[in-house]
Order: sequence, then structure tokens, then C-alpha cells
Amino acid sequence: MSNQLDKYRNIGIAAHIDAGKTTVTERILYYTGVSHKIGEVHEGEATMDWMEQEKKRGITIQSAATTCFWAGYHINIIDTPGHVDFTIEVGRSLRVLDGMVSVFCAVARVQPQSETVWKQATRYNVPSIIFVNKMDRIGADFFKVVKDVRERLNGNAIAMQIPIGESEDFVGVVDVLTNKQMIYKDGDKDTVADWEDAAPEYADQVKDLKLKIIEAASDYDDALADKYLEGAEISNDEIKAALRKGVLKREIFPAFCGTAFKNKGVQPMLDAVIHYLPSPIDVPPVKGLLPGTDTEVERKPSPSEPFSGLAFKIMTDPFVGTLTFVRVYSGKLDSGSYIKNVNTGNKERVSRLIKMHSNKREEIPYVEAGDIAAFVGLKDVKTGDTLTSEKNELLLEQIDIPVSVISSAIEPKNKAEYEKMILALRKMSQEDPSFKLSYNEETGQTVIAGMGELHLEVQVDRLRVEHKVEAQQGKPQVAYRETIQKSVEVEGKYIKQSGGRGQYGHVWLKLEPLERGKGFEFENKIVGGTIPREFIPGVEKGLKESITSGVLGGYPVVDIKVSLFDGSYHDVDSSEIAFKVAANMAFKSGMKQGSAVLLEPVMKVEVECPDEYMGDVMGDLNSRRGRVLGMEEKGGMQNIQAEVPLGNMLCGYATLLRSLTKGRASYSMEFECYREVPRGVQEDLLGEKK
Ligand code: GDP
Repeated sequence: MSNQLDKYRNIGIAAHIDAGKTTVTERILYYTGVSHKIGEVHEGEATMDWMEQEKKRGITIQSAATTCFWAGYHINIIDTPGHVDFTIEVGRSLRVLDGMVSVFCAVARVQPQSETVWKQATRYNVPSIIFVNKMDRIGADFFKVVKDVRERLNGNAIAMQIPIGESEDFVGVVDVLTNKQMIYKDGDKDTVADWEDAAPEYADQVKDLKLKIIEAASDYDDALADKYLEGAEISNDEIKAALRKGVLKREIFPAFCGTAFKNKGVQPMLDAVIHYLPSPIDVPPVKGLLPGTDTEVERKPSPSEPFSGLAFKIMTDPFVGTLTFVRVYSGKLDSGSYIKNVNTGNKERVSRLIKMHSNKREEIPYVEAGDIAAFVGLKDVKTGDTLTSEKNELLLEQIDIPVSVISSAIEPKNKAEYEKMILALRKMSQEDPSFKLSYNEETGQTVIAGMGELHLEVQVDRLRVEHKVEAQQGKPQVAYRETIQKSVEVEGKYIKQSGGRGQYGHVWLKLEPLERGKGFEFENKIVGGTIPREFIPGVEKGLKESITSGVLGGYPVVDIKVSLFDGSYHDVDSSEIAFKVAANMAFKSGMKQGSAVLLEPVMKVEVECPDEYMGDVMGDLNSRRGRVLGMEEKGGMQNIQAEVPLGNMLCGYATLLRSLTKGRASYSMEFECYREVPRGVQEDLLGEKK
């Protein structure tokens, strides 16, 4: 194993669903020599698609890391999912990779989901190159995609190639910097194409584009800028080195094109991965906190630093057991040694270290800074946990867990399998923290919650395929919340002093609405022992219990601050329990007096449809209490952006849209925020519940 860190690339391939991410990944694995048979997606054989149900759906959901080699470089491909319901997977993958290939469809161009991934990549500051796929399709337009990225994503995309031929006649590319062309004689994957001098007809275009590249590069290298102004000769190596600096800052996005399906243009894109995307030493050292403190520490990506890594993916493998995928940020870890899980405080032994290639596992003796490996033998690790050496702990930033906006009851078809189902669901929620499991005491039902209908559907499918439990899923329910609209002061008294041991709890609470997303806050403002200190935890416990079930429909209460500011006690009769009950009573009446209101998850919805259906689509969105925010024309299609309450998007919006537009529209949906439900609607919703 090489320990030259500059020879590593940890990359992800991100794309809108159907843009060709799976096919591109397949071809990369093929050309890097690992995968010897190309598995076409439509045959459901793609190597990266691990799980049976992914194959069935033809989409990649889970992210695993696959290692391959190109031109002496070690490339770890972290698979990022393409569906919006799985943004947690995207976010988590972006945390652990250093660079990205953003795949766009040459016809569909920038689509809603590409914007989501792009925004996240910006947030995590992940440098990216662009690969415009499907150049063989009618209407493919490389330069329009480049323009789209500049205008819609605000990304400084720079065309590095010129496509040769259009749609089915697309045969190859001209490389602008070298003025060489690569023409593939046919679409066969084994056809070898070489660089040769570009045809003279491209000369003017090459000159123009090269000028643009040099101008972009000159921002990152003063010597180059001087040469440019003086009209002196500039070598391609100088240009590439300067461009690379811009790419690493996420200020420049070199764009390439091809068709993965017809086996054209993938190798030059791989060269670009090596040239432009960062190695582990090009990215800033990882930062973390010393556990239990606010002291920030850094770990350089070097094998001589103490070991640190982030568990970013947990998978259950039928042969090996639990595989914990870890991005190693610093140090070196030998197989068979111990690590500390900083989040749990547990010490655990890593029995084996494994590298996953697309078609085989390879056991490795050690793993070093900058690399990614699957750890075997860890029992109690969750996604996002930090693993370090025993003596040198630090806590890396945790992975954001998105809100679960939808839930449904679940039960095994065979009642005897209840235990088995619960165990499996627990494991799945450990693997995917946005998938939550709970028990509703009122109804006696087991409830699963997640980020969308498809998310839950996929999980129930996994339950069947991977864990062999057939389960029945209830109707999806929107995760409503409750809050108050105005501040109130309320009294709660729980006093029983007739015969036997008495009870005495008495509180005055102030309830105040908080901004959306602030959750619950408690403040104890008691001074001078009006209520003795030992009873305060009782008040807090009572409140924590109260907020699990509001006064309107029993939904969790959020965005509320409760201050305990007065009350009284009795020397003999007061107890923690009595204060708990008093707080509960005060809270309930406070909710009512504070004008309790329902909050509903509102989704950002984008629909793409042909002009002639725009009226129908918008009319339908309006009837769903949607608010159209804007629309724009894009390549003959209309892109409509709207906000729609999730409750009005359930149960087959996809099917309805298909029938409304004869299958010519597509849509994406993403959680936006929680918002107050209009009064009239609230009554309907609560009425329905009863
Ligand atoms: P993903 O959803 O982004 O992973 O996309 P897939 O790789 O599954 O591709 C979606 C569909 O587009 C499949 O039917 C592919 O065969 C097809 N496809 C992928 N790449 C190309 C391409 O370069 N040209 C054409 N015409 N079709 C492609």
C-alpha cells in the first residue's frame, strides 16, 4: 500500500437521479480495471448497487466506498445517493470525501436535485469537476450545461473540451489545452482511442476557450497573469497548476463531457479527477474538540499524528457481519488494535480491516490518514461517531440528522416475528439515524419515521429482503407539531391534604413562543428558595413529559420556552412527584391560554413540465394549498417552484402528475420548514384525527 498521500483521491459522484451516475461509476470501475464485466443499470446488475431492492428500483441509495486505481493513483469512490429523500446520505458522504464529480445530463441540464447536492457541496466546501453525460442524446448541449451551472448554480464552470459531433454522431472530444482530439471509432467499451492533433475546423473555438481558461487561471497565479499580459508563452502545466488552485477553493469548476453509456469520454474525465481534485493533503486539517471541553484541536493528515476517524456508514454484510466505513483523518491503525469511540466512551477492538473493491474484499494490515476502509468487529458504533486512539481523544463534528417529517405504524404479518422485527428496525435506525423507531403507548403501535414516503417504503423493503421479516405498513402520517402563539403566565397546583400522606406541588410558569427550529428550553428563575432546589428536577421532568404530547392532537410541542418563576412548597407534603404533576397541569393550561396552534412540515417542491401542462400543474398545486414561488423556462420545459404542505403531497402525487401531463413532468421535493397551519385547516385536520 502506498503511503504517498498526494496519490490518493477520495471522491464522490453526485448527480440528479437518472443523469447517469450509476453508469458513470460502472465505467470508471471498468476502465480502472477492477470490474471486468459492465453491468448495465437497466439489467439491474450494477456493481455498486448492493442491495436487492436497489437493483429492483434501479436507484442507488446506500453509500459505500469502493477503491480503484488509475494512472498510479488510489481512488476511493464514495457512493452518493441520487434521491432527495436521502439527503442525509448525501450530506454524510460529502463530509468524508475530498472532491466530487458532478454529473449532469446533457439534455436535462441543471435539475432540482442537482441544486440540492450543489448547495450541500458548497456548505461542506467540496471541490468539484463537472462531467456532462448523455452527449449521445438528441438535444444534448455541452455548452448550455456549462452556462446553466454558471447561471443557476452560480458556479464558475469552465469548458475544458469541445464535443465532436452531435447526438448519435457524438464521437469524441477536443481537449482545449492541448488542442488534441480523441475520437472513439465506435461505442464499444473496449475500443481504445488515443489523442491526436485536433481537426483544423476547431482552431478558432479552441483559441477562444483557451483564452477563457487562461483568464480564469490567472486569478490564481501572479506569474501566469504577468505572462498573459505580456503575451508570453504559458505552458499547459502552469495553467493546470493555477486552475487547480481555483478548483480547490471551489471557485472554478472545469467541465468535461461524454457518454458513459456509449463508452466515450470517461478516461479523460478520470485524468481530470487526478489533475484537479484534491488529495487528502490538499484539504485543511480536520478539526475537533477535546471531549467535554470547548478547546478546538487540529489533526494533520499524516500517519505520524494520533489516530482519528469518522464512522460514516454502517452496513450489515451477510458474510462478515457489521462493516463500519471509516474515513481516517490522521494517524495509522493496525488491524487487531483497539480504538476509542469518543461518543460512547467505549473501547472496542478492530478485528479486521477491509478495502472494498467493486467485486472483492481485500484484507489490509493497516489503514492510514487520508484513506477509507471498512472496520470489522465494532459493536456499538453509530453513523457519525468519532473513533480515535485510546490516549488521544478528540470529538469530530457530528453529521447533521435531518428532521423526520413522516411516520407510519408498522407490524409484522406474522405476530410471532415481533421481536425479530424490532431488532431489525433498531439496527436499521443505527445505520441510518434519519430513520427513527418509537412506540406509541396510546395506540400500542410501533411507529417508524423518516424523511419521506419513499424513504419508509425502502426501509420496509429492506426489512423484508435483508432481515426476512414481512411487515405491514400503516398509512403514512405527517409529523405535525404543536406550539403556542403568545406568552402567558400560568399557575399549577397539585395539593391533596386530606388524610394520609399529603401531596403539595405549586408552580408558576411563564410560557413563551420561540423561533421555529429552537425546540424546547427550560429556565429556573426561582430565587431565595421559594421552591427548594431538590424539587426543581421534578418540574423539569414534568415539562419534558408534557411536551411529548400537546393539547391539540397529542403532537410533540416545540419552539417553546418555559420559565419557572414562582410557587410554594409544604415542609412535609411536598415531593418531586407532586411538583412534576403541578408542572404538567400548568403547562397544559398554558398551552390552551397561549393559543396553541398546529405546525405542519412544508416542502419545497419543484416540477418540470412542458409548457402546455403548466396551467394544470399550477392549478393542481394551488388546490393542494401550494404557494407558487416562481417559474422559469428552461430548454423548452417549465420549471415551477412552489411550497406545499407535506400533508397535501401524500399518496401518489407522482402518479397524479404522470396522468396530468401524460408522463412528461418530473418533480422533486425537499423539507423546507415547519409552519403554522391555517385555522380552518387545523380544525379539519384535528377533526380527521378524532
Ligand atoms: P443514475 O440514476 O444517475 O444512477 O443514472 P443511471 O446510471 O441509472 O442512468 C439512468 C438511465 O440513463 C439508464 O437507463 C442508463 O442506461 C441511461 N444512461 C446513462 N448514461 C447514458 C448516456 O451516456 N447516454 C444515454 N443515452 N443514456 C445513458
